Amino acid sequence: MHDFKYKNNELYAEEVPVSKIAEAVGTPVYIYSHNTLLSHFIAYRDAFDGQPHTICFALKANSNIAVLKLLANNGCGADVVSGGELHLALKAGIPPHKIVYAGVGKTELEIVQALKAGILMFNIESSDEMLAISEIAARMKKKAPIALRVNPDIDPETHPYISTGLKESKFGIPIEEALEHYRLAKKHPSLRILGIHKHIGSQITTIRPFVDALKKVILLAKTLRSHGIPIDYIDMGGGLGIPYRNEHPPHPSELSRAILPLMRGGNFNLILEPGRSIAGNAGILVTKALYLKKHPQKEFVIIDGGMNDLIRPSLYNAYHNVLPVKKNNRKKVISDLVGPICESGDFLAKNRELNRVNRGDLLAVMSAGAYGFTMSSNYNSRPRIAEVLVKGREFFVIRDRETYKDLTRGSRIPEFLKK
Ligand SMILES: *Cc1c(COP(=O)(O)O)cnc(C)c1O
Repeated sequence: MHDFKYKNNELYAEEVPVSKIAEAVGTPVYIYSHNTLLSHFIAYRDAFDGQPHTICFALKANSNIAVLKLLANNGCGADVVSGGELHLALKAGIPPHKIVYAGVGKTELEIVQALKAGILMFNIESSDEMLAISEIAARMKKKAPIALRVNPDIDPETHPYISTGLKESKFGIPIEEALEHYRLAKKHPSLRILGIHKHIGSQITTIRPFVDALKKVILLAKTLRSHGIPIDYIDMGGGLGIPYRNEHPPHPSELSRAILPLMRGGNFNLILEPGRSIAGNAGILVTKALYLKKHPQKEFVIIDGGMNDLIRPSLYNAYHNVLPVKKNNRKKVISDLVGPICESGDFLAKNRELNRVNRGDLLAVMSAGAYGFTMSSNYNSRPRIAEVLVKGREFFVIRDRETYKDLTRGSRIPEFLKK
């Protein structure tokens, strides 16, 4: 479900023509739909109604402060993986008791900040980290609330780069070793055990891996309880996929229907950490065709957006649907959409049958609301692009396009080089 639709052959974001935004703000530009973001969040909230739960949006998917504020205003929590994300979540008004903190490399400073903020819990990824958190908490005369991230060794059947729950993954603790680690944690007076965390991967399009992993986690929770280790929270991570092309990922309500029976009678508080399934289809990247290069077999459309703006195609060979902002009935040609970056891997789409693109045409790269802007960079010294939020008939710039001034912000020329 999303709010990017054609009306009279023109692509609209909610009630606003995409071309109008491109004209006002320039291209490339990320456009998000307020209604899509909100309805994706509400789909989760409704699906788990009746089960004590917190939905902690994974900030790494989209951390624009306006997007976070929108979610915060509606009761959403946050899954953060850095001090920067913690800062943004708090700044957006997400209450600390709805913030969970994952990540394999939390620094001392980040741990101190999270303890000061009073977050719900740390999702700990190694015994070294457990020791560090315990020591820091002791020094601060605090008790650190924790869950251990266990690795249930489930194949999520997704891209290897976004699969995190297999044995050989750098994330979490092998589930067979969990009891031992929890026993260790229990001995630390400055740690307070709250729950179990798992996250098996991303863009998962079937229910089975979630069910299989959760069964293992619930079994572990029961074992831990029988050893006097309190487990109140089960954090099942994120990972529900979205339709990029012709996938049919389950709706949050199907997920809840499959997993709530497993939780029944366990008296668990459930945490979910969706990222992509909230923001992915709520955003598009709009780019303009600069030049065309005709080859005998196909056409290269050189666009003003590149891998620095949206890296998923280059990084994961990810598929993003491409739509013309103004429909036309020109002849279909096989086209590659390539960016201006000096890398052969700089493409947003390959071998697509598109109506012939002309110079100046606007193209919408769909499903770009998650892992789009957050993964963007200044590579080739390109200023990062603007972000716009559409609500009904109105649109709002929620991040200015960077300027050349931003390219030197914070950098300095040492005296000896000055003349
Ligand atoms: C990336 C990540 C998420 C979000 O994953 P999605 O596939 O975007 O839902 C949630 N939890 C953790 C620990 C993550 O690393």
